[in-house]
Amino acid sequence: MQDFLLNDEDRAFRAEVKAFLNRELLPVTPAIEDRQDWEAVKRVVRSLGEAGYLKLMFPERYQGSLSRPGLTHATLLSEEAAAINYAFETTIATALSCAYPLHRYASPEVRDRYLQGIIDGSEIGAICVTEPKVGSDSARMETRISFDQGRNEYVINGFKRYISNASKADTYIVYGISDPEVPAQKGMSAVIVPKETSGMSFPRTYTFMGRRGCVVGEVEFRDCRVPVDHLLGSLNEGFRIMLSMFNFERIILGGSGLGVARSAFAIAREHAQRRESFGQKLGCKQLIWDLIAEMSWRIDAAELLTYRAARLYDAGELKPKELMKPASMAKLVSTEVATYCADRCVQILGGDGLTKEYGRAEQLYRDARALPIVGGTNEMVKYLIASCDLPEIKPNL
Ligand SMILES: Cc1cc2nc3c(=O)[nH]c(=O)nc-3n(C[C@H](O)[C@H](O)[C@H](O)COP(=O)(O)OP(=O)(O)OC[C@H]3O[C@@H](n4cnc5c(N)ncnc54)[C@H](O)[C@@H]3O)c2cc1C
Repeated sequence: MQDFLLNDEDRAFRAEVKAFLNRELLPVTPAIEDRQDWEAVKRVVRSLGEAGYLKLMFPERYQGSLSRPGLTHATLLSEEAAAINYAFETTIATALSCAYPLHRYASPEVRDRYLQGIIDGSEIGAICVTEPKVGSDSARMETRISFDQGRNEYVINGFKRYISNASKADTYIVYGISDPEVPAQKGMSAVIVPKETSGMSFPRTYTFMGRRGCVVGEVEFRDCRVPVDHLLGSLNEGFRIMLSMFNFERIILGGSGLGVARSAFAIAREHAQRRESFGQKLGCKQLIWDLIAEMSWRIDAAELLTYRAARLYDAGELKPKELMKPASMAKLVSTEVATYCADRCVQILGGDGLTKEYGRAEQLYRDARALPIVGGTNEMVKYLIASCDLPEIKPNL
């Protein structure tokens, strides 16, 4: 049964947000995909913020009509947005992943200064973890965050790449090593860097095979200084902050994968029922039935794991370390299902699946490919899952 883990209120929320996105996002998708029109992206982010949808994960700030906001609803928002345009959805998912540590770890004054703009949709956030020499092995990052006692400031030096919303974001959460003498787990910190801070620059923007319209680029820090109160949590607490942020991001990514998978499935199903081959509907053929069934059960499995993780997060009873496994499973399965469904959808459509003239199948195929790589690759999340099952064994990374 579809959405077995949701209740009537969740379903009402889904219907409401879907109608909103159909009205606000759907009409501008050609501008986003074909012209990479950032202003179009920003306008929809702003309207989502104005409608209150970007504060769903922060119940005490939420003043919408629904009584039970939370990550479950934020995940549904991601799912519905990704079903329409995954590039747009990554922009808000990244901004929300930036809002999460701000909300949880910034001092009240600093939090209010930077969080407000993100949740009201007037500003965008970014997360800076990945570096040229360091991707999956983030504990080896080379960016340094040092403390200048004389000026009471943190000084950042380093180079980050593949940063979503780079150059467009207003607020950057930057991770770096603050104590190189100890392992990164105990020597990493996270700071907030507002846009236009001297010493921060954006050398390059990338061109990707998919996710067109979401800006991804490099961010360089050269003696970039922020006031002492821009540290998140305590000094050297960055690794712990990063892990809890990744739990949050991975549950949202479960929603992104589901949205892309559902979109691909809907296109494939419609084609199987309409297209004729050998004098019959394509959908009559057993090999096509097989593909439809293979997509269908995978989507249900992804849905169950994603909503389970979101529900566990909202229940608030698990520590970040305990949430790691369900969040990783949601990310792993949903993103694999998205690439599977996007690929099978193209196959069912044949030549129509490869050309823009016949709809979105080719776009979904290109977009979906990023999902098993972002937010920690699927190889890495498998290590996390297995490390929960084999706690006595240190994985050979
Ligand atoms: C579109 C896009 C947007 C992104 N947005 C952001 C962002 O906003 N912020 C940010 O910080 N980063 C972002 N990233 C970076 C992303 O998180 C990294 O690409 C990812 O973590 C992998 O790092 P890497 O690309 O350096 O690959 P590598 O770490 O070099 O890995 C290459 C391959 O080897 C595999 N691998 C590596 N080590 C092992 C091992 N021990 N065992 C088995 N397999 C292994 C990996 O799984 C992968 O398949 C983004 C990336 C993309 C493509």
